[in-house]
Amino acid sequence: MEPQNNTENPPIIWLNVAVFALTFIIAVVGTPLWAIYHGFDWIQLLMLVVAFSFCGLSITAGYHRLWAHKTYQAHPAIRFIFALGGAFALQNSALHWSSDHRIHHKHVDDNDIDPYSAKRGFWFSHIGWMLRHYNADRYSDYTNCRDLQKDAIVMWQHKYYLPLVLLTNFGIPIAFGLIHGDLWGAIILIGFTRLVLSHHTTFFINSLAHIWGSQPYTDRNTARDNGILAFFTFGEGYHNFHHIFENDYRNGIHWWQFDPTKWMIKTFSWMKLANGLRTTPEDKIEKALAKMELQRIQSYLSRKPDCGYRLEILQQEYDVLLTKLTDYYSVKKRIIELRKRKLLKKVENAELVQQYKDLKLRFNQQKRSWQVLAASYAS
Ligand SMILES: [Zn+2]
Ligand SMILES: [Zn+2]
Repeated sequence: MEPQNNTENPPIIWLNVAVFALTFIIAVVGTPLWAIYHGFDWIQLLMLVVAFSFCGLSITAGYHRLWAHKTYQAHPAIRFIFALGGAFALQNSALHWSSDHRIHHKHVDDNDIDPYSAKRGFWFSHIGWMLRHYNADRYSDYTNCRDLQKDAIVMWQHKYYLPLVLLTNFGIPIAFGLIHGDLWGAIILIGFTRLVLSHHTTFFINSLAHIWGSQPYTDRNTARDNGILAFFTFGEGYHNFHHIFENDYRNGIHWWQFDPTKWMIKTFSWMKLANGLRTTPEDKIEKALAKMELQRIQSYLSRKPDCGYRLEILQQEYDVLLTKLTDYYSVKKRIIELRKRKLLKKVENAELVQQYKDLKLRFNQQKRSWQVLAASYAS
């Protein structure tokens, strides 16, 4: 990469370099050697999955969706578990992580401000940003997380971050190894391999999820939707949706999208351990999708000769779609609101519901013809 500013080569953070390099070498060299000469049993492999999931979900459901974005509220017991799992994942304190992440969203792709700007390349956004003192001047500035400073568990974890890191990263593998009877196997697999897998899959969200995948909702930033990444990151791979609707507790909004973080938060809400789950209004999502499709086809058509007529038809169909979309969702919202306030009388109800059904049908018809037109123009 070309130097982007005069802070391109600040001093190296040797502790981070040593931790990342040593853990990586032990995981990559030590694990296969141990597997060949000693072997791992299924209990150890199961424990690897459990420990990896504990780290991963503490970051995705805790650090990310709970603390950085406030997409829901969680019971103190859940927050305590996330605080432990976050220390186990060795990704700095929840306060620090959230502060960096809020800057990332607010200034996404701005090479001077976004702490892990994807426009500075794969290596920088993946791990390079943590290897030098890039943001030394604002390292301990948590003014963008005043709300989190009121959370006693967040502040407790921040204060005792290092002891918690040592306790979890050494304590859990050693305790498991002693109980199970293979101490060194546990240290290699649950200590080092789990940490390296957890680190790099999470880091992929800052690197790969800003490079590889589709942009169905917005192209105003580099964030991408990627089902393969979602599989390895507990649902965080739907990053294009996430960057436009960051207050939504979901990243994969469809039932068929792999988002176990969302499923876990929803399960917590059924168990009364979480509440206030925030979702984006459906009409906003539909509008973003349609607008993105319109822009994509407009730019495709404008490169073709004699595109004026098709551009006109496209715009007309889009306008009709937006009108029908607005009509349908405004009646839908009204019904939901009246039902909530128990104000719907029987007769009114029947009338409104009929109107709702008609508008829904018309909207869906228009959506289909818009999709057919979009597909025919884009090929
Ligand atoms: Zn991002
Ligand atoms: Zn985010």
